[in-house]
Amino acid sequence: MFRAIYLEQNEDKSVRHSIQSLDESALPEGDVRVAVDYSTINYKDGLAITGAAPVVRKYPMVPGIDLAGTVAESSNPDFKAGDAVVLNGWGVGEGHWGGLSQQARLKGDWLIRLPAAFTARQAMAIGTAGYTAALCVQALVRAGITPDRGDVLVTGAAGGVGSVAIALLAKRGYRVIASTGRASEEAYLKDLGAAEIIDRAELSEKGRPVGKERWAGAVDAVGSHTLANVLAQTRYGGAVAACGLAQGGDLPASVYPFILRGVSLLGVDSVMAPRPVRETAWALLADDLDTAKLDAMTREVGLEEAPAVAADIVKGQVRGRVVVNVNT
Ligand code: NDP
Repeated sequence: MFRAIYLEQNEDKSVRHSIQSLDESALPEGDVRVAVDYSTINYKDGLAITGAAPVVRKYPMVPGIDLAGTVAESSNPDFKAGDAVVLNGWGVGEGHWGGLSQQARLKGDWLIRLPAAFTARQAMAIGTAGYTAALCVQALVRAGITPDRGDVLVTGAAGGVGSVAIALLAKRGYRVIASTGRASEEAYLKDLGAAEIIDRAELSEKGRPVGKERWAGAVDAVGSHTLANVLAQTRYGGAVAACGLAQGGDLPASVYPFILRGVSLLGVDSVMAPRPVRETAWALLADDLDTAKLDAMTREVGLEEAPAVAADIVKGQVRGRVVVNVNT
């Protein structure tokens, strides 16, 4: 038997969660069974557990888009019992039972090895949010945004993607501007490496098609008017990596930043990224993420407390990252 968060749908389509003891025979199909040590709460997990958006494709569902643990049994040639592994995305926790559980059975092709630089707990402190921040940084680097080109803006700064993006960018020598709605987090954001803090209200309302050129690049976790304004204030030849929708999934922008300033909009997806792309992002994290900063942005909860964190993250009230110790 193992314990897991269990989501069921009510007749009115709302979602109820409980913690259940389940039999191993209930696990879905897969060629690798993992004894999970840690999972985490990402924004998408918040949506799944609260039912705030329809990210779960079938019920009952065990949520958790991330997990880190040890292979318990495997018929996949790439993994054997005892291997330390990490999973991010691939629709796990949405269409296939996920990581907020003491056990998971899934496709070995979805797994990567736990990088030697990190413990299972640290890998989940990074989680999809941190690995996505690394994908965003890589996208900016590929677009030629070097530190000498100018400042880089991070929106949703005090959240998970934002916190890791600030730490990675600062380590690589960028001058980072952090956009946040939480002025009280100024010291936290500066400790992570932000040089300047701006109020997210500056970016969240409908703005002009192009404005003053303020940054050479940006990591945007917010979307909607914020992304439109970020594009409008990006310097000539700059680039914006867009990965999130904390404000909204719309993009009420104009083409002017693209056709007058040659600005590039770089789409970032973590869920279906092929394994080599994931491994490169994790290698960047191993090289550039200061584990003391990672610890400073992380707090730990047990399985019982995870649903309350899920409710908080949807309200934008979680700072940095929350790991879930599924065995407490
Ligand atoms: P968090 O909730 O940890 O961070 C989001 C942050 O956005 C909040 O902390 C807050 O930061 C800011 N925010 C919240 N609501 C609003 C609002 N209404 N207007 C403006 N800013 C707001 O989530 P994550 O960091 O885990 O994820 C961030 C986004 O990235 C989510 O939309 C998520 O779905 C997406 N994502 C996408 C991935 C991909 O593969 N493309 C992978 C991972 C995440 P502050 O208080 O500092 O303003």
